Amino acid sequence: MGLVIAIDGYSGCGKSTLAKALAIRLGYRYIDTGAMYRAVCWYALQQGFFDNRVLNQSALIQALTEISIQFKYNPQHQASEVFLNGENCETSIRTMEISSLVTQVSKLPEVRKKMVELQRRMGAEKSLVMDGRDIGSYVFPEAELKLFMTADKEVRAQRRLLEHQLKGESVSLKEVMDNLEYRDFEDRTRSESPLIQTVDAFVVDTTLISKDEQLNLVLTELKRRSEEHTSELQSRQYLVCRLLLEKK
Ligand code: C5P
Repeated sequence: MGLVIAIDGYSGCGKSTLAKALAIRLGYRYIDTGAMYRAVCWYALQQGFFDNRVLNQSALIQALTEISIQFKYNPQHQASEVFLNGENCETSIRTMEISSLVTQVSKLPEVRKKMVELQRRMGAEKSLVMDGRDIGSYVFPEAELKLFMTADKEVRAQRRLLEHQLKGESVSLKEVMDNLEYRDFEDRTRSESPLIQTVDAFVVDTTLISKDEQLNLVLTELKRRSEEHTSELQSRQYLVCRLLLEKK
């Protein structure tokens, strides 16, 4: 049985990139919980639940029983892709439109309850890297490793802008930066499991370090922890993790 690695933090600071790299390195599953909230938002848009960019909350809440979310592994991308009611929506959910509407969906307690249940089910077998906003604080408070990621606002916006440009989406730096600030504010101040930095989280500031340096930082922390025996079960889990790291 492996570990649960919970990654939380602000929008656009590289959570999913690091989570994916860690999962590949350890042979763990990676679950992007932001994709789940984005997928529900995409569904709400398709169903016409937004009127003038304002969500009809009760319509979405009523429709929740009709929604099924799954992840399927795509070997080409070495990552899982999100499916809503059987349809692959991985690309459709990464637009600025969804980014600008998603917090109206993610703040609803009914939506969160359903997503958290699914996430806990997916984490029951452990050997998992999951990223989001409430993973270490709420979904898996017992996670063996919690990371909290942060980065300078301008750096985050530049990186996100580049992602949009590579996809051919025309957006301005200001638009991206405003969206990141808006989502951070909404995510930190909502009443239901807001984004917080837990006291036991290992902080990764990605402002000045490369993707490889981020990965190495976390692998070093994992090795350090594997030498500390907090409990018999944990020491066994870390030992498996260490053997995995030494093998590669
Ligand atoms: O991670 P990503 O930026 O794709 O997440 C999109 C949105 O989903 C966030 O801004 C947040 O409102 C919501 N979210 C959340 N809880 C999570 C993951 C994402 O509320 N665990």
